[in-house]
Amino acid sequence: MCVVTELEQQSADVVVVGAGYAGLAAASRLSAAGLGVVVLEAADRVGGRAVSEMLPSGVRVDHGAQWIGPSQKRFHELAAQFECTTFPAWETGRHVEVWHDGTRADYSGTLPKSGPGVAGHERVTALLDELALTVDLDQPWLTPNFDVLDSMSAEEFFQSQTEDEDALRRLALVVQSVWCCEPREVSFFHVLFYVASAGGCGQLAGTSGSARDSRLSGGADALALAMAASLTVRLDEPVLTIRHTADGVEVVTGKAVVRARRAIVTVPPAALGRIGFEPALPPARRGWTGHTPMGRVAKVHAVYEEPFWRKKDRSGIATLYGRNPVGAVFDNSPQDASRGVLVAFVHGDRVDRWAAAPDDVRRADVLAALAEVAGARARMPVDYAEMAWSEDGWTIGGYACFVYPGGWTQFGEHGWRAPTGTVHWAGTETASVWNGHVDGALTSGDRAADEVIAALGS
Ligand SMILES: Cc1cc2nc3c(=O)[nH]c(=O)nc-3n(C[C@H](O)[C@H](O)[C@H](O)COP(=O)(O)OP(=O)(O)OC[C@H]3O[C@@H](n4cnc5c(N)ncnc54)[C@H](O)[C@@H]3O)c2cc1C
Repeated sequence: MCVVTELEQQSADVVVVGAGYAGLAAASRLSAAGLGVVVLEAADRVGGRAVSEMLPSGVRVDHGAQWIGPSQKRFHELAAQFECTTFPAWETGRHVEVWHDGTRADYSGTLPKSGPGVAGHERVTALLDELALTVDLDQPWLTPNFDVLDSMSAEEFFQSQTEDEDALRRLALVVQSVWCCEPREVSFFHVLFYVASAGGCGQLAGTSGSARDSRLSGGADALALAMAASLTVRLDEPVLTIRHTADGVEVVTGKAVVRARRAIVTVPPAALGRIGFEPALPPARRGWTGHTPMGRVAKVHAVYEEPFWRKKDRSGIATLYGRNPVGAVFDNSPQDASRGVLVAFVHGDRVDRWAAAPDDVRRADVLAALAEVAGARARMPVDYAEMAWSEDGWTIGGYACFVYPGGWTQFGEHGWRAPTGTVHWAGTETASVWNGHVDGALTSGDRAADEVIAALGS
């Protein structure tokens, strides 16, 4: 028996695909310009890579995005507009790094000022900042020596600058914790572009005054929920096909066909393969999506009765270079410190191995790392939650896409964010400022909405 289900027919001026921060920003701007907008979201919630959950212990944790920096202007404008407040991330006390041979060293400030490899790391980082100043953020292909910089991996560049194994270890952990991949995988130009888009290495890696300055009081998706409240968002509607028509687009889900004059697609490039395009996307856009895989990351939260590490003047912030899969730990306790929360990050190759291990092995690995950082009590959390982003069916990884060596040169100019007919591209990966972050997602949505408003003469 063949069952044919009639698809609902809907029309709008613009259809937006994806209800993460980029899609919600685009839809809000288009609505404010008087255009009729429908947002189609595959998941059963808005927020995309920003998702918070109330754990059984009564603590809300952010499984994806969590930190906001003071220079992330668009975020702060919208947070003020929607009355969403932030609070400073916890960082009082001594940080610790646990070296690959088990040596421990306490430090304060953003980075250790002494120790193995510190001088080499500082020298190469200063060079990154200097080269980043040459990057053209709106037309990256116009950057001096663009093709040379893009032809090498970050690993090749680092090895050309230092033979100090300890400095190379430090630089590798930077790549893992910022791009969630390995130095051999990522284009050196992409590293420079990303550093430039954040305003320097210190902005990317820092806490107070930089990218990890504050957190949203109501959870990382609180602003997304507030923005979505006045929009038409259809949840649980993965877009299956986007068809160009004589006068616009037809966007097809399992339940509906939405006809519109324009579409804005905000899904990460690596997730675009799940949507069929008729006619097929041009080679540059296809090539770009094939050269921009998602980073690989897991975030694990462990909840305790109290932030007990603070009694020993420990901040709960740590970097780990050893065999344990965890690379970084932060104090993610709630604003009122009613409980203690540590968050562990597992990145790059290490997350592939860790995620494949049995539940008890994964948990034991993470708790062993937390015990290194905070003491033996860390082995006994009252609550524990893991989120491995490679297993998220709609974003397939995080924090964002990175670019393979040569990808920018071969496909960037025509494949990065240039509109494809009546289809416009947004998403944090298309941002010039704070690329890869929530703020970049918001400004990418604004930019794509402005393209559409200009094209429609609204
Ligand atoms: C672990 C982790 C930690 C992070 N930490 C931070 C941080 O501290 N600070 C920060 O600023 N940023 C952080 N980020 C990055 C930040 O989350 C992203 O930059 C931002 O949320 C991206 O928003 P977006 O709208 O561009 O994409 P997304 O949030 O990915 O939104 C895209 C949406 O499209 C939907 N979708 C996909 N396919 C389809 C389809 N076929 N049909 C319909 N809908 C579809 C998805 O479900 C999703 O909702 C982090 C990310 C992760 C994963």
